Amino acid sequence: MTFDSHAKLEQNLLTCALCPLRQHAIGPTSYNGCPESPLAIVGEGPGGVEDEYGVPLVGPSGQLLDKALTSVKVTRDRVYTTNVIKCRPKGNRTPTIEEGCFCAEKWLDAEMASVKPKVIIALGSVALKYLYGPDKRITKDRGQWFTTKYQIPAIATYHPAYLLRLTGKELIRAKWEVFYDLQKAVAKCLELAPDFSLQSAEPPNLLEQYKTRRETRRAK
Ligand code: SF4
Repeated sequence: MTFDSHAKLEQNLLTCALCPLRQHAIGPTSYNGCPESPLAIVGEGPGGVEDEYGVPLVGPSGQLLDKALTSVKVTRDRVYTTNVIKCRPKGNRTPTIEEGCFCAEKWLDAEMASVKPKVIIALGSVALKYLYGPDKRITKDRGQWFTTKYQIPAIATYHPAYLLRLTGKELIRAKWEVFYDLQKAVAKCLELAPDFSLQSAEPPNLLEQYKTRRETRRAK
């Protein structure tokens, strides 16, 4: 699908009810950040907090992502953040690849055609499999460059939700791996778009920013 503007795309997305996932979600979630950014982050799907606020990665996973991005001098208002799947699956289960493909072919593909990022970071297995190939594995293929179906270079790293489940040495190792993956992505992005600043002086408070949307969704 193509749209006249990114705002029009979002307006249509937020009313989508094309698949059964919509039945158990408050509503589709869209994106946050900057649609003009050369850097896009693609996660898996919304959790409870994201479903409430209508935007991706603003709950505990999003807060951990913010910290990781701070370590590589990136703030969320300067990147485009979205998900493969826009509606929260029942019981917060991990979405299947088929569900991911159905939604992403409708919406993520349109978003990427509109934003045209120069670099994509795939967060977690569902994003890696959609953007790279169904046989790819996050443990084996993270940290390596690949070219997406959009002909945009991408790198995958662990989803912050995975890090939240780890402890001890495993957690320390995974955090360093994420740091190096993000560092590579930022370096390539700055090489391809040297004039774009990926960090603002004041990191945004996304929960505050989307407070009104949350209230509107609650009222429905
Ligand atoms: S998951 Fe995607 S395709 Fe399904 S209803 Fe939600 S936005 Fe539409």
